[in-house]
Amino acid sequence: MTDVATTPTGTGGAAAAVDHEVVVIGAGVAGIYEIKRLIDLGVDAVVLEANSGLGGTWYKNRYPGARFDSESYTYGYSWSRELLDEWHWTERFSPQPETLKYLEFVADKFSLREHIRFDCFIEAMTFDEDGSFWRLRLRGGEEVTARFVLTAMGVLSVPTYPRIEGMDSFEGPSFHPFDWPAEPLDLTGKRVAVVGTGATAIQLIPEVAKVASELVVYQRRANWAAPLNNGLISEEEMADIRRRYDEIFENCRRTAAGFEHDADRRGFYNVSAEERRELWDRLYDGPGFGIWLQNFLEIFLDEQANAEFSEYIADRIRQRVNDPVVAEKLIPTDHGFGIQRVPLETGYFETYNRDNVTLVDASETPIERVTPTGIRTTEGEREFDVIVYATGFDAFTGAFDRLDITGVGGQKLRDKWADGPKTFLGLMVAGFPNLIMLAGPQIAATNFPRAIEPAVDWATDLLTHIRAHGYHRVEADADAEQAWHEQVARSYSMVLSGRAQSWITGYNSNLSGHEYGKTRYNVYQGGAPRYLGRIGKEATEGYPGVHFA
Ligand code: NAP
Repeated sequence: MTDVATTPTGTGGAAAAVDHEVVVIGAGVAGIYEIKRLIDLGVDAVVLEANSGLGGTWYKNRYPGARFDSESYTYGYSWSRELLDEWHWTERFSPQPETLKYLEFVADKFSLREHIRFDCFIEAMTFDEDGSFWRLRLRGGEEVTARFVLTAMGVLSVPTYPRIEGMDSFEGPSFHPFDWPAEPLDLTGKRVAVVGTGATAIQLIPEVAKVASELVVYQRRANWAAPLNNGLISEEEMADIRRRYDEIFENCRRTAAGFEHDADRRGFYNVSAEERRELWDRLYDGPGFGIWLQNFLEIFLDEQANAEFSEYIADRIRQRVNDPVVAEKLIPTDHGFGIQRVPLETGYFETYNRDNVTLVDASETPIERVTPTGIRTTEGEREFDVIVYATGFDAFTGAFDRLDITGVGGQKLRDKWADGPKTFLGLMVAGFPNLIMLAGPQIAATNFPRAIEPAVDWATDLLTHIRAHGYHRVEADADAEQAWHEQVARSYSMVLSGRAQSWITGYNSNLSGHEYGKTRYNVYQGGAPRYLGRIGKEATEGYPGVHFA
């Protein structure tokens, strides 16, 4: 790899002078690694972060119960042996405060904070075609210019609040878990409503139930969930994990979803029903995504296999919920297990056995309006002290739509993506030169950092290539972009999850105004190894899908 600091162009090169060679937007998991790479290379780069602290997702999601559903040691960064040796994950699935502490530890260890500007919300960015650079306008009016912009804005960083009449009239606190108050909020003895039953709510609900005097959950569609089976990591286990790190990351690289869990390849129909049950019993009582990802591949591809497995999970739910009517309400009937991303839970189903918890079926008795004192459904009104809208995110494209991005010829990115994102390898967009996405739409759907690290490396290598050749402008080829888009769309037709009504298909995006019911190809569903192979090939072949000038 060429060291960009020693290349002939230098900062700004022959083109118009800019404030920075590179601006990275966002100081979350991706932005932290990217700035580390850039400063190591001696590039003049800065991270602009909208929040007052680093950590992105892990800075914002402070709701009770927030934690990884990836094994902690597969989620952390893999690029520093020293870091791997020093950090001790205390739980198999790290809680949010520990994860935030980890990211802060990384930033401090590598002196990254001095390269991050906090409280910098970018309102708009426009590509200057004459000078080949980006003009970024910050809230407050300041302008920052940069030759290249690398976006690290997170894929679930724009919360979607529902559009329910009267929401503004509620007199108590109400918020999305993403906007959970930074000041500790004591819910002891409070009457709390939670709207939504996605992965966030499923983590939150058991914790709120422990302290609230009354908790009412408004469920529109039931969501499959399986036990997290968390546990502490002892010194001895951590020492073993450290010894195995190379193997762990290699295993993650080989699997479709970037976890250590790998599919059972015996073949669903090659083993007896008893053997299938034996596997499922073991996986259900085992940790993490094993129940989903160590299962038979047919679960993801074959409706009959999926239906048999879903019935198994339904039975496990029935065993855990005392009231059979409530149990049936908690079992999805509109989609099979694993078709949508599976929430992992700790005592979620047992929570409905508590006297202070009520499940309201908001599809049978829809919410009509929020009142100053509570929520009214077609069945009547209940009063609350606090309302939590755990109603999901404008996934992948929300952060880009929020930013007014103008590319070549005055084209707006949000217009180009009005019907869904279209990218080259999830990394670049035709018509938007010198913009590279580190956690953009149409990358592989995986254990997040396992896709981010290669994206950061790819972007950094591309910048190195650009500098080595004295280029000032880089842009994805429109035909290459179209080809990738078609490949992403094909990947949806190959798996049952391509038909899911979830943020993976853009279902939830309608809350922010996207057309309801139209599939948005938000992620590549062909698996991480194929994705990594494809982006690696693009680089080794000299970037045939990219124009340089
Ligand atoms: P989500 O999965 O999109 O769930 C949103 C929930 O809100 C759904 O139950 C949805 O119901 C409901 N909803 C939306 N609008 C509603 C309305 N107007 N009235 C009633 N209900 C409404 O969002 P999420 O729970 O925030 O999870 C998103 C993703 O974040 C997860 O899939 C996961 O990838 C990630 N996450 C990860 C972790 C972790 O452990 N690492 C934790 C939390 C979240 P419908 O199903 O009917 O639309």
